Amino acid sequence: DSRLADVDPDVYAAVRAELERQQNTLEMIASENFAPVAVMEAQGSVLTNKYAEGYPGRRYYGGCEHVDVTETLAIERVKALFDAGFANVQPHSGAQANAAAMMALIQPGDTILGLDLAHGGHLTHGMRINFSGKLYNVVAYHVSADSNRVDLAEVQRLAEEHRPKLIVAGWSAYPRQLDFAVFRRIADLVGAYLMVDMAHFAGLVAAGLHPNPVPYADVVTTTTHKTLGGPRGGVILTNREDVAKKVNSAVFPGQQGGPLEHVIAAKAVAFKLAAGPEFRERQERTLKGARAIAERLGAADVATAGVSVLSGGTDVHLVLVDLRESELDGKQAEDRLHSIGITVNRNAVPFDPRPPMVTSGLRIGTPALATRGFTMAAFAEVADVIAEALKPGYDEGVAGKLRARVAVLTGEFPLYPEL
Ligand code: PLP
Repeated sequence: DSRLADVDPDVYAAVRAELERQQNTLEMIASENFAPVAVMEAQGSVLTNKYAEGYPGRRYYGGCEHVDVTETLAIERVKALFDAGFANVQPHSGAQANAAAMMALIQPGDTILGLDLAHGGHLTHGMRINFSGKLYNVVAYHVSADSNRVDLAEVQRLAEEHRPKLIVAGWSAYPRQLDFAVFRRIADLVGAYLMVDMAHFAGLVAAGLHPNPVPYADVVTTTTHKTLGGPRGGVILTNREDVAKKVNSAVFPGQQGGPLEHVIAAKAVAFKLAAGPEFRERQERTLKGARAIAERLGAADVATAGVSVLSGGTDVHLVLVDLRESELDGKQAEDRLHSIGITVNRNAVPFDPRPPMVTSGLRIGTPALATRGFTMAAFAEVADVIAEALKPGYDEGVAGKLRARVAVLTGEFPLYPEL
């Protein structure tokens, strides 16, 4: 009973194949998750048809009475979730949220201070050919070579030397928590705005398992589809009314036209779910699962292959595997795990000697498997499968056995059975 199958069998076939890929493999890309069917139902609704430029109660189009309801629900729910005074739920993505937040606070040519991409920052934090690197004068801070943690002394030194207008705290590949109070102090010291990009760890914040940056930052941006587990999109939060006004006009008409009201309705559903006890329990398993993986991959038998865990562990939903001492590079390790049914992404580690297309690291995340229902025993099992795959002596015989163990796990924790 599929209209898509009738109208466009080619697209339908690819969508079905993707569903099966998600069901039959173990998704461990740290930025991914599985949106609940209710979220996808809202996202796939007639709200996609509606133009609604403007904001609830102040639209440039008629007929917005129902999308006003869903957008207001999204705003009020996300404000409550993160204890924020103001929210804009219209950014189409995390990158657009960051573009709008920067546009709201600073001018082209101003200096921004952000975490180096190669040390775990995001493209939008100042990468050379990203809008952020083209529009703004970028100064990058780093992690220290011995601890692999953000070097706050360097952040302060660079802030005092370059007097940035905006400091960005946040990351895409970093296994620890940032000290928002210290970032606030440094921003105040030099009169800079502080922007926290919590895209990766927002779900942990919502569950009360990670410090909330909202009280410290002038503006907080996030995606809604990573640990938060909602539809693909972005949000901007602030407690400052003056900043809120600037953010609203930076999103629309500054960066975007018509908001994606179907996605905004799906965000509202996701925020409702994120306020519940099941969500918190899932985020707890996400954290414990990541710790179990860090522990297994830090063990002596894995170390013999030159494989170690960056910073020695994790405080969040991901583990960074350091392959600098290993013969296996990031690309080979990613391919090896892919061939046994585990999806991860290779990732540059700080001070990586290998080129960006190869890298010396893997980023392994637990949010999607936690959503799938993984227990601690299941996380221990997948951790051991990964460890065995990265150890010396890997061959087709080993691969076959590991593939079978992955198949047991995918069978034990069915994904989207209703689809
Ligand atoms: N900010 C951070 C920290 C991210 O990790 C990402 C995505 O990887 C983004 C922003 C961008 O989000 P999107 O891919 O939705 O544009």
